[in-house]
Amino acid sequence: MQVAVKSTFRSNERDARSSSPGVADRGALTSRVGPNTLIQTVAALRERMGPGWAIHLSARAGLPDPLPRDMVEEHFFARLVKVLFEELETEDAEGILAASGVGTGRYVLRHRIPGFVRLGLRLLPARLSLRVLLSAIRRHAWTFAGSSDFTARMTPDGAEFTLAPSLVCVTAQAGRPMGDYYARAVETLVRALVSSKARVTEEACTATGAERCRFRIVLAPLPSHATKDVPTEDTCASS
Ligand SMILES: [Zn+2]
Repeated sequence: MQVAVKSTFRSNERDARSSSPGVADRGALTSRVGPNTLIQTVAALRERMGPGWAIHLSARAGLPDPLPRDMVEEHFFARLVKVLFEELETEDAEGILAASGVGTGRYVLRHRIPGFVRLGLRLLPARLSLRVLLSAIRRHAWTFAGSSDFTARMTPDGAEFTLAPSLVCVTAQAGRPMGDYYARAVETLVRALVSSKARVTEEACTATGAERCRFRIVLAPLPSHATKDVPTEDTCASS
């Protein structure tokens, strides 16, 4: 079951073959990320701030027009994050990136994971399902992590993953954890496929001096004082 599920978790295989960064590319600005980093962030920007801001900040970031549908060089995403934090209130920039993460997770659910795989993951025991999902995320991590080094492991209460350096967090430089884009994207997947009560929180961040951004995935709800509140609409319906 595990092999079947892992082998059918689709990335954009054509792009993966042509653009997957090798070891030599790690850390270089030529690394690529999925187009959803731009598409979902601009959509969230338009939704939250209006089309005028979306046009203005897209131009300031030098984004291609129209936005590409194939893998994009990660510096475009870094530029977009930079201008978000330069021109908007920090809370607005954070909210846009969090919404972009949810949008990215929903896109992956609808377009990159076949229906029978979604069903299989939901039928498995939660920890086994999380292990399989985490393995798939690890294999495709470069599509959202770009040149960042990605690690993931199971823990007694769920799992954790790390990014170093996280493109968003090193770019935002806002003095507090900034990895909501990644947390909400993974949380959307885990809630839809493993446990609707799962939560993902960033517990260490390069924006506050940590060597790696570390994200904790908890399958059971944490005490309310231990995490930030997350809007209920983050719970993603199956597609
Ligand atoms: Zn971070």
